[in-house]
This record gives sequence, structure tokens and C-alpha cells, in this order.
Amino acid sequence: MRIIDLRGKNLTRAELLEAMPRAQMGTQEATELVRPILDDVKARGAAALRDFEEKFDGIRPEHLRVPVEEMTRALETLDPEVRAAIEESVRRCRAVSASQVPAPFHTDLAEGARVSERWIPVQRVGLYVPGGKAVYPSSVIMNAVPAQAAGVESLAIATPPSKATADGLPDKTILATCAILGVDEVYAVGGAQAIAMFAYGAKGSEPQDGDVLCDPVDKITGPGNIFVATAKSLVSGIVGIDAVAGPTEIGIIADKDANPSWLAADLIGQAEHDELAGSVLFTDSTDIADKVQESLAYRVPRTEHADRVHTSLSGTQSAIVLTDDLDQSIAAANAYAAEHLEIQTADPDAVIARIRNAGAIFRGPYSPVPLGDYMSGSNHVLPTGGTARFAAALGVHTFMKPVEVIEYDERGLKELAARINAFAVSEDLPGHGECVLSRFVKDPYDKATL
Ligand code: NAD
Repeated sequence: MRIIDLRGKNLTRAELLEAMPRAQMGTQEATELVRPILDDVKARGAAALRDFEEKFDGIRPEHLRVPVEEMTRALETLDPEVRAAIEESVRRCRAVSASQVPAPFHTDLAEGARVSERWIPVQRVGLYVPGGKAVYPSSVIMNAVPAQAAGVESLAIATPPSKATADGLPDKTILATCAILGVDEVYAVGGAQAIAMFAYGAKGSEPQDGDVLCDPVDKITGPGNIFVATAKSLVSGIVGIDAVAGPTEIGIIADKDANPSWLAADLIGQAEHDELAGSVLFTDSTDIADKVQESLAYRVPRTEHADRVHTSLSGTQSAIVLTDDLDQSIAAANAYAAEHLEIQTADPDAVIARIRNAGAIFRGPYSPVPLGDYMSGSNHVLPTGGTARFAAALGVHTFMKPVEVIEYDERGLKELAARINAFAVSEDLPGHGECVLSRFVKDPYDKATL
């Protein structure tokens, strides 16, 4: 891994942000690739979806919408150990999601003057479950469970057809997970074309599609590669999106006492996702940095996806950041704003108290990122690419909207009428004031009656 040496440098905030390792594939290139895909799906619906599936996934699915029997069959043939793992993950995610459901509240400002807030579920959502290089049944859980806890009425899932089976269907574990969760609207569609289908809806092109293959959704959530993330950004505004969750990242703050072998394993674990995945170690110990490099040299050639891991760890988005001290490690980690941030230091709580930007924080040596990927109960759909500076993990709140209800009675409004009128007149919007005054005076245009 390359070294970014911050020692002895007193960088400004802007310089620190600039120094952080990031993937170099710009959104510009991806936008040029993705925009025509969106336009074509919008124009030609299912026919375009089949063409793009053939082009990018090498399969022309007969059934773009997966028949429900296929999900039932996938559940019946699921390995019992995997089923037990999925059910445990669902149980923990449901428990955390149930605690996340926001409570309505009201504030009484005076007699007859109340503002209350209701949380309303989004009506229909499209959940993207990645499935290009790896398959992510865990992402089905992370998307669907909070949506269900929020009370979303209509849930659709899109995920690419599996390359392993060539039957045009998505991975069987993904289908079985949908069956466990009771989700029956699943599409064998991946990439930017899936995002277009959710945003615009898609008319059918074959008899099995029906006239309408997919209704448009109100919000799209879920992680994906650069094409998925770019497509989501482009349709944002037409539909809502969650935080843009692109190629994954890990940041680790480690001090001299951390275990270098575990650090190396954790860096590799994230690099395994994607050639563009970022793995970044922040440490003030050159000894730890050297030992991690040694451990990587041993482990990388031996790991299953050695080529992908090697590309990811040697890319511009990965680095060991050498710092003067823990303070500088914390400052750099806050600038990086990792999707996943592990804290492997002597006093992790003292560090956590100073973390401002991270998608999720993994405290101590026994809370590694894969615990959160699968089973901690927390959500693994997290903001990437530095967006953790302003965005948060997927959760129940992602699928709900707070709506304020304004409840003033005659007395409450009358008390404020003159002030509202003064405000309205000062903004040169006297009609605003008149609408309030009309309720209390015969003629709001007659200054004498005011
Ligand atoms: P994916 O499902 O996101 O993308 C696969 C799709 O990309 C294919 O179906 C294809 O249609 C499209 N595609 C491939 N090459 C293309 C090209 N040249 N032009 C246009 N479209 C193309 O699966 P993936 O590729 O495995 O990526 C999954 C990503 O999701 C990884 O980066 C992983 O790290 C990330 N991830 C993130 C989280 C999170 O919470 N942030 C969780 C799980 C996965």
C-alpha cells in the first residue's frame, strides 16, 4: 500500500481533504456512460432492460420480474446453515429497526397554538441489491427490514441476474432471503438500468411482462457500484434517494498496540468487494505500518480474490496514512469520512468522542466491519466517498418523512394576527397579512377597521 506521510505537516482543512486517498474514476466518465442508459429505459421500458442485461450481464432474462414460485423454491433448497445465519441477521436488524421508529411529538406554544409532527412512511420504494462481483443477500435484509419497520406499503427489489446459473434469475440466496422477508416483487435487473426502471417505471415488451412491468417508485435505496451510484444521483429529484453508497471503504485508526495481523485482515476484507474499494489505515506508529505491510505481503497472494484485492489496495483510493500522533490521525480520519471506521486504540471511547465524520464506527478489536456487514443489528448501507460528512446510514428514518401539523384555533391565531401582518407587509406580500386579518375584521383593505 502506498504511504501518505502527514508527519510534520500542519495542513489546513482544505489541504487535509485534498490529501485523502480517493478513487480516481470521476463521476464525469460514469455520467457519460449512464445517462444514455437512463434515457433508453425511459423510452423503451422492458425492451431496453433486456438489451442492457444482455450487454452488461451477458444474459437476456426471459422473466424480468422473478416468478414468486422461484423464490419459494429457492427457500426450500437453501442450505440450513445459511438460512439460520440469515434469520439471525433479520432478527437483530428487526430489533434495532424497531427501536429506530421515530415517535410523534407535539409542542404547545400558547393556548390554542400547537405544532405537532407525524412521521409518514414513503409509499413505494425500490431497493437495489448489488450482485455483480459478489452477491449480497445481506443487503436485502439491510434495505427491506427498515423499510418494513417504517411501514412502507409497496417494496420492490432489483438485483442483477446471476452469472453462476445462466437461467436469467438472480442468485438463489437473494431470492430465498426475499421469501423469508415476504418480499414478492423482485426484478432480475442490475446496474443503471435497474435505477432507471425504478425512477421512471417500465412498460412491458413481452407477454410475460404484462402491459406494465414495473410501476415507478417514490424513493430508491441501496448500495451499488459506480454505475448504480451515478444513476441514483442522476434520478435524484425525480425520486428520492438515500445517501449515495458507492464502492465501499474502510478507515482504521490504530495506535502502536493494535494487532497488525488483524489490521491487515480488515483492510483486505474491504478490498475484496471491488477494485475501487478503499482501505485506509491511519496510524502514528511506523512500526505498525511496517508490520501491516508485511502481513499484507503474506496474506494478499493467498486470499481467494487476490487479484481484486491487490488492485484495490494498490489503487489511489487506498493508503497507509502516517501521522505525528493520535490527534492528527483523528483529524485525518474526520477529513476522510470513512464509510466504516474501525477504532483500534488503547482508549477507543476517547477517540470515538472526537469522531465527527463516519458512516458507522466499529469500536475495539472485536467489532470488525464484517460483524456489521452481516449480523450486528446495525445497517450496512452506509455513505461512501466522503459523503459521511453530511449523510447517514440507511435506517427506518430513510423510509419515513416527518410532516408538521399546524393546529391553531381562533384565539391562537388572533394573538399573532398583527405580527403576521407586519411581517407580510415588510416582505411586500400584503395578501399574506390580509388572509389572516380577514378572519378577524370585516374589511382587511379598510385601514380604519384594523
Ligand atoms: P452492482 O450490482 O452494483 O453492479 C453490477 C451491475 O453493473 C451489472 O448488473 C451491470 O448492469 C452494471 N455494469 C457493469 N459493468 C458496466 C459498464 N461497463 N457499464 C454500465 N453498467 C455496467 O454490483 P458490483 O459491481 O458487485 O458492485 C457492488 C458495489 O456495492 C461494490 O462496490 C460494493 O463495495 C458496494 N457495496 C456497498 C455497500 C454499502 O453499504 N455501501 C454494501 C454492499 C456492497
